[in-house]
Amino acid sequence: MDKGPVIITEKIPIGISLCCMGSPVRYNGKGIDVLKDLGREKGDFIWCPVCPECMAGLGVPRDPVHLSNGDGDAVWSGDASVRNRGGRDVTVAMKTGCSVCLESLQRCRAVAFVYMDGSPSCGVYRTTLKNQRRGNPPGVFGSLLLREGYFLIPSSDLQSPLRWWDWRRRLLAFHWFSTVTLESMKDVYEAWYRLKFLCQELDDPWARQMGKRLAATKLSESPEFPEEFRRQVSDVLRKPSTTKRITNSLWKHYSHYRKQRGKTVAEVNSPEFRRNMTTIAKELTKMERTAFEDDYLFGASPVIYRDARRLPKPQET
Ligand code: SF4
Repeated sequence: MDKGPVIITEKIPIGISLCCMGSPVRYNGKGIDVLKDLGREKGDFIWCPVCPECMAGLGVPRDPVHLSNGDGDAVWSGDASVRNRGGRDVTVAMKTGCSVCLESLQRCRAVAFVYMDGSPSCGVYRTTLKNQRRGNPPGVFGSLLLREGYFLIPSSDLQSPLRWWDWRRRLLAFHWFSTVTLESMKDVYEAWYRLKFLCQELDDPWARQMGKRLAATKLSESPEFPEEFRRQVSDVLRKPSTTKRITNSLWKHYSHYRKQRGKTVAEVNSPEFRRNMTTIAKELTKMERTAFEDDYLFGASPVIYRDARRLPKPQET
């Protein structure tokens, strides 16, 4: 088995609320470009922007809409409605707009979605921005995204270099893992070898439990195990980490790298060293690059993207 990092060379398609790409499509004619904070990394993905309210034919500018008598799930089951400020029922139009946007994401083969939280349409954990209330989450489109199992990223986290680094590494691992064949226990062990350190950082009690199960499981007795393994690992990869866990993990893997390869990376600091999130993100990116160049599996970020044109050409024999 190749024990180096997994390299992805195709750009992953990601859906995004259109107003988060800077398009002035919110009810008040505004938008915010959260992708500009990614700099050159923006070009490492294919972006698939959609706006359910625009596709509902509500236009810009428009009266703001709100959920009435329930959340987005209840709208789909017919127990709640969507109304605009004037009280007009726009439920049917909104459902159509959301379905059209979902079709667009499916055609684009998007695996993840960057959502505008606080919207009654695209919101997932909040459907209002007023007074920090949560409203009735999820929103109408948020409900569809949850049901379809998209890897959901709040747009505000793209504005923090460290939070985005955390989302990006988990998204790459999530996407790669969704494509891995799990037909034998050998396949399962090999996938676990790549992902276990990241899973331990995200949910250590669960990872310990899974490690024990892997050692005890026989495929002949539990033929359903690989799919359960896929589901559980995918769910763990959706969980954000914390600054403390990330800096501990960075130091742990860097110490191993230093010992194993006998090399140092001057930029990497110990967890006790006080620095801001931007500096930590730079250290992580540097460690990722160093590990890639040295064909070393940096367990905190086991799957990385590289443009095929920038990969070293194979040596002719
Ligand atoms: S939050 Fe969603 S529905 Fe509202 S403007 Fe943005 S993309 Fe459109």
